[in-house]
Amino acid sequence: MTTEVEAADRLPEYAPTVPVDEAPLGALGDEPIPFAVEAIRADFPILERTAGDWPLVYLDSANTSQKPRVVVEAIEDHYLNHNANVARAMHLLGGEATEAFEGARATLANFVGAARSEEIVFTKNASEALNLCAHTLGARLRPGDEIVISVMEHHSNIVPWQLLAERTGAVLRWYDVTEDGRLDLEGAVRDGLLNERTKIVSVVHVSNVLGTVNPVAQIAAAAHAVGAVVVVDASQSVPQMPVDVQALGADLLVFTGHKMVGPTGIGVLWGRYDLLAELPPFLGGGEMIEVVKMSGSTFAPPPHRFEAGTPPIAQAVGLATAASYLSDLGLDQIAAHEQDITAYALQGLAGVPGLRVVGPAEPVDRGGAISFTLGDIHPHDVSQLLDSRGIAVRGGHHCARPLHERFGVQSSTRASFYLYTTRAEIDALVDGLDYTVKFFARGSAAPGPGRAR
Ligand SMILES: *Cc1c(COP(=O)(O)O)cnc(C)c1O
Repeated sequence: MTTEVEAADRLPEYAPTVPVDEAPLGALGDEPIPFAVEAIRADFPILERTAGDWPLVYLDSANTSQKPRVVVEAIEDHYLNHNANVARAMHLLGGEATEAFEGARATLANFVGAARSEEIVFTKNASEALNLCAHTLGARLRPGDEIVISVMEHHSNIVPWQLLAERTGAVLRWYDVTEDGRLDLEGAVRDGLLNERTKIVSVVHVSNVLGTVNPVAQIAAAAHAVGAVVVVDASQSVPQMPVDVQALGADLLVFTGHKMVGPTGIGVLWGRYDLLAELPPFLGGGEMIEVVKMSGSTFAPPPHRFEAGTPPIAQAVGLATAASYLSDLGLDQIAAHEQDITAYALQGLAGVPGLRVVGPAEPVDRGGAISFTLGDIHPHDVSQLLDSRGIAVRGGHHCARPLHERFGVQSSTRASFYLYTTRAEIDALVDGLDYTVKFFARGSAAPGPGRAR
């Protein structure tokens, strides 16, 4: 009986590696498309629907974005015409699926400025990618080592590090935020936050609550100066601005497909190749091994080492199409549009009685998410009243409890914008908030069933 299972499906033979700079980016059409919001909206069928008697006003893109027809069609085409497992089947469809999957990897590498496509690891979402970072970097930690995150992190960039600290005896330390919602970098210097014990610094690029754009390159330089590894949560930045991993100086960077007009079920970890090559595996299973013996296994090189089991193939195809769609429009243009809409919204919201913005009140270094409180009206009531007028916002703590505590509030209402958001939709939001204020001034209860409290 043989106890050795040779990895017959070992990768190099039929995992074609597309050179990054030859990966199709912006390949949906040769002509640059002028940034015309109405034309863009026509690509998103869902935006044409109504919500009761009202036109739908979707202001929850920081939660998940809507999807353009091309992305849905790419996924459909994959399933209807090219579906097979990747890197396992030596037949026509297996080859096509593998080519599409590895081609998607190269497109994503190109999208964020990676040096090679093997630096792109597909995960389930950003949360899994951050858990992967914590788990694999954790193998190097000793008791007393320090991990630095910030008060404005999403729970996905807090909890994995808390678990890691508990497991290893490492200490979790935090960047504070200032009253106007910026990272307190001066305070960090004063307190010696980064020092020779710091092994990992993990920060969010753009806050999903405050909208703040953090000076990641500056933080990365300071972290590298003490020899720490830099992890960046780019879940909110990659969808809405040009992100270049080299310029940021990150070592590991994560984002999530569904917030960048791509499908759910896929996230991305980018890592410097030499760092990825040093890290141990995360999940065990098929495709991530070199040789499996009863006495132990050896592992495939990156990226496959970190992709146990059948990967999200159709999702990768859809995500690559999403990246091409965004590139075609131009990330600079998308960022400029969001700046415009955010500035317009801040101006409009300033006129709503009792409204207080949580985060930077100026539209500078700020992405397209605005969180606010409205007097003492509960955010669930605010979002329910807006919903009764077809307006979708999010009420709650937006997976950022420590940040809300820092600002002395339980929760907030968040309106978030994207490439398809119009000024007319902002006007509808402001009208809806004025209506909400008047409604509660009358001392009435919120209408409708299922009132959340
Ligand atoms: C949405 C989000 C995440 C988590 O993304 P998932 O797709 O839910 O895993 C992490 N960080 C930030 C800043 C986010 O906005």
